[in-house]
Amino acid sequence: MSVSKSRPAFAAFTLIELLVVIAIIAILASMLLPALQQARERANSISCVNRLKTIGNNHAFYIADYKDWTVCGYTVGGAFDGTCSKGLLPWHVRLAPYFGIKKLTSWWVPDEKDCEPHFNCPSKNNRVSSDGTVKKSYYAVNYDACSDLVSKFGVTTYRGLKIQEVVKPSRKVFVIDAGTSRMHYNGSNNYLTFYPQRHNGGENFVTFAGHVEWMKAPALYNARYARFNIFSN
Ligand SMILES: [Zn+2]
Repeated sequence: MSVSKSRPAFAAFTLIELLVVIAIIAILASMLLPALQQARERANSISCVNRLKTIGNNHAFYIADYKDWTVCGYTVGGAFDGTCSKGLLPWHVRLAPYFGIKKLTSWWVPDEKDCEPHFNCPSKNNRVSSDGTVKKSYYAVNYDACSDLVSKFGVTTYRGLKIQEVVKPSRKVFVIDAGTSRMHYNGSNNYLTFYPQRHNGGENFVTFAGHVEWMKAPALYNARYARFNIFSN
């Protein structure tokens, strides 16, 4: 008979308990989320390093198959025949068969579904730079390995680049986490605006010798001539 009197008190007590539990969960979640995000970013950076390493390894196979020619020398241009086999093809189109990609539908390979796991950084944490531009998660080739060919050889038609022509290939950037373009990366640009700084304020890249490195953006910017100019030390 007294049960009906005690029920409201019981209900009020559980409501307070529930609120306390929710508050505790909220506090714990706010403490754990940054740590989880950091862990996810660390995992993305490791995955990025592995992707760049694979690009470096497949480039070594390409160089062996094509009598020391690298995939460099071109960024865009020429007729696209959709097969990765000939013409003035950009670097990722030339490398695509080494990832089992047989046919592409456009130059803009990094956006294609088959290319997504190979030619894009796994980090979806796209960075917004100081000029408001979103730095999407593309990889790009060292543009100096393409544009410098024209200035060095004084030719108007693009030509390829042999691996022996690269001075200190273990130091020179081949492909890097990019922010400005899906096709090429100009190392001479101001890092605050143009370097994506996707991984702990720095860049992952693979060299012409296939080594993967990480450097803080300001350090890479300061070393830009030693790291990007393929024809000098
Ligand atoms: Zn990355």
